[in-house]
Amino acid sequence: MQKIKMKNAIAELDGDEMTRVLWADIKEILLKPFVELNTEYYDLGLKKRDETNDKITTEAGNAIKRLKVGVKCATITPNAERVKEYSLKEMWKSPNGTIRSLLDGTVFRTPVIANGILPLVANWVKPITIARHAYGDIYSAVEAYVPNGGKVEILLPSGERKTVKDLKGAGVIMAMHNTDESIKSFARSSFNYAFDIGEPLWFATKDTISKTYDHRFKDIFQEIFESEYKERFEKAGIEYFYTLIDDAVARIMRCEGGLIWACKNYDGDVMSDMLASAFGSLAMMTSVLVSPDNCYEYEAAHGTVTRHYYKYLKGEETSTNPVATIFAWTGALAKRGQLDNNKELEAFAKRLESATLKTIESGVMTKDLLPLFKRNGVTPRGASSTEFLKEIAKYLQ
Ligand code: NAP
Ligand code: MG
Repeated sequence: MQKIKMKNAIAELDGDEMTRVLWADIKEILLKPFVELNTEYYDLGLKKRDETNDKITTEAGNAIKRLKVGVKCATITPNAERVKEYSLKEMWKSPNGTIRSLLDGTVFRTPVIANGILPLVANWVKPITIARHAYGDIYSAVEAYVPNGGKVEILLPSGERKTVKDLKGAGVIMAMHNTDESIKSFARSSFNYAFDIGEPLWFATKDTISKTYDHRFKDIFQEIFESEYKERFEKAGIEYFYTLIDDAVARIMRCEGGLIWACKNYDGDVMSDMLASAFGSLAMMTSVLVSPDNCYEYEAAHGTVTRHYYKYLKGEETSTNPVATIFAWTGALAKRGQLDNNKELEAFAKRLESATLKTIESGVMTKDLLPLFKRNGVTPRGASSTEFLKEIAKYLQ
């Protein structure tokens, strides 16, 4: 069989623990037999990050900028325990954080939907994608406990003072910020992504209460929509819909899915966990970072699955779900195909996705999915990760 060729490379970012094991298996079993993989390889495994004083992470981020498309394996974000475990020189920063600040992107998380794995909300028949603004608000706020009360003020650059509260007794206060630049990037990434996949974009804040802060978000989205996207959206038959956050939550529960929901930082943090659990499992959630200048980094939304890795090291058979990581690869290959006008590569990515879903629908799946699976006439069977990948390969062939 003739292997599919790739004109341009994608940046390949390897990672840690169980997902690193899955990464190699996915390449051997599902990709290399069918595609002449063309990647620029960066080893973001913790050992290599330590050896290179984390330069490798910046190099990988720059490679995504240059090549426009990257695919990333889950990586360890070191804490004090990891520093000991790996005898690290330093507690290196989160690679995702480093890459995100290089690309200035927005993260979109989408559940993978298979027949038989029903979302808890019965009317969600299509995926709901959350776009989380990963900058500012309470995540970089200044806060304080004021034990004896007193007048708390904000001093603005103009010299104007605004009273937050004249506290009569003990209390807490907080000041947070965002920037026009970051909100604009967030808006453009969201509009680009919605246009790209042809789904409507919803955005919601609490602008009726937060008449300056949240209202700024609403205004920036509206301005950018009107001046840069309105015509394109109309031609493509998709809409931009703004509403209040509480109204959005109520509508989400009643909708059928098939939309992008742009969320402020905190809303996105909370709502993406709700969606992941309602749609099945974190192991079925994919994630893509999109920069305002259209660079794409695909990954699984879960971590390195440490508990399974320790079992694997002891020689025990593991049943770790590779679906999100497979979909990270298909996302990257399809995007490469689209940018290079390589129809064969795009079609292969689609085939691999449907082979993965068909395998689950036929009743073969990793053990985490067994309790979620319900399909008339199909008795599900729990497979090891390798068995599951080989079963998908059969469908591909
Ligand atoms: P995790 O790796 O996502 O795993 C948490 C638990 O969720 C697992 O123990 C497992 O449950 C279940 N799980 C997650 N993915 C699964 C899969 N593909 N198949 C089957 N079960 C799955 O999160 P964590 O344990 O909090 O973090 C582990 C490491 O990952 C940390 O070092 C963290 O820094 C890193 N991390 C990286 C990223 C990233 O690179 N994007 C994201 C999050 C965390 P059971 O044990 O019950 O089977
Ligand atoms: Mg969260």
